[in-house]
Amino acid sequence: MRLYDTLDRELKELRPLDGTTYRFYCCGPTVYGPAHIGNFRTFVLQDVFRRTLETGGMRTFHVRNITDVDDKTIRDSQAAGQSLTDFTGQWTAKFHADCEELGLQPPHVEPGAVEHIPQQIAMIATLVEKGNAYASEDGSVYFKIASYPEYGRLSRLDTRELELGRTQNERANSDEYEKDSLSDFVLWKGRKPEDGDNYWPSPWGEGRPGWHLECSAMIAEYLGSDFDLHGGGEDLMFPHHENEIAQSKCACGGHFAKHWFHATHLLVDGGKMAKSKNNFYTLDDLKAKGFTAMEVRYVLIGAHYHKQLNFTLDSLAGAREAMAKLAKGQRSLAAKVGGEVQLTSVDFGPFQEAWDSLNDNLNTPGCLGGLFTGLREAAKLEGVEAAKALAGFNRILRALGLTLPEEEPEAEVPAEIRAIAEERWAARTAKDWAKADVMRQQLTGLGWNMKDGKEGYELTPV
Ligand SMILES: [Zn+2]
Repeated sequence: MRLYDTLDRELKELRPLDGTTYRFYCCGPTVYGPAHIGNFRTFVLQDVFRRTLETGGMRTFHVRNITDVDDKTIRDSQAAGQSLTDFTGQWTAKFHADCEELGLQPPHVEPGAVEHIPQQIAMIATLVEKGNAYASEDGSVYFKIASYPEYGRLSRLDTRELELGRTQNERANSDEYEKDSLSDFVLWKGRKPEDGDNYWPSPWGEGRPGWHLECSAMIAEYLGSDFDLHGGGEDLMFPHHENEIAQSKCACGGHFAKHWFHATHLLVDGGKMAKSKNNFYTLDDLKAKGFTAMEVRYVLIGAHYHKQLNFTLDSLAGAREAMAKLAKGQRSLAAKVGGEVQLTSVDFGPFQEAWDSLNDNLNTPGCLGGLFTGLREAAKLEGVEAAKALAGFNRILRALGLTLPEEEPEAEVPAEIRAIAEERWAARTAKDWAKADVMRQQLTGLGWNMKDGKEGYELTPV
């Protein structure tokens, strides 16, 4: 597969550093509420990325963290009157349930920040020892940006106007600070009264880790100083990913991630998603509107990860139609194949283009388009060729993580229409052709077409 690397700004062929397993890390959710579809766009694309590698025969090792201690989780657990563990445990469970519905494969390792506090303290100690971090009078420890001259390469800080002068005097103690302000950032936050019971002992006094540090500590633990790829939403590039690079390279040496994979923001109805604008959707919100998780997944992969996706309810309706068409194509292909066919070779047949799209910078919309054109070609195939095409189609569906609806979604047929149809079917079965004809006309007059099959009939609106 070729994929765009945000760091070097070019398409690169992906090959595992260790020659066997593609090892990658993705920043996970902060578990203080349900994840929204913007979060899920990134996770779904990462899942398609992994599935594509695996479908192509590569082994993967996928690490994604759970942020269960930070400013937001502490604030909201207290507002809810729950312990941090109970509060984040409940939202982690909700996240996992949503992921399962959306067809996301669980990561191979999913470490939580709280259970890795010793590793985080050890990393801070190393940074202090090497002169990359310093303790302040309030019991916090900060990373000294001036000690790492390469800071900012990922997000091209040198080409942006930053208030570099602030480095000397100002520090950022909150987990998420102003964009485009450059300052020493916090690694360990000294205990404050508003933290409640959420503090741990450290060589610098009681407190808790800063948010940026956990990813570096978990990467060091599970992937080491050199690994294949790091992914996340583009909003994490600065400062979060810059901070990860600085912390990890200074503490562990090595090259850190060989490749950076960032997914672009999602818009809703052409605007930025915001709770205040009433366009902030969770999976449950969309299910309440009658859509399925698979329809949501289809929309989320419907735009290229490098382009902005404009999410609308109409696009979900479109996904339903598209998936019904794919399912119909799959069924008629399966009907041609009949039973089991032993395939001696595996190729994608008429779906080769769809597969190539996926491997060309994870072009998911190109792949979906290729499924439709492939189905048209496959309709002309017979026997073993049809069986091969079906196998190719199904492999691509697995790479996309899509499960198609098993039955064609039937139009709502009113009971009285159904009753007439049943009576006509009985007449037809009894070979009363005259009555069957009259009743067919009656149905047409009422706005319904009745199509007879061998085993049954189908009603569609005229
Ligand atoms: Zn991270």
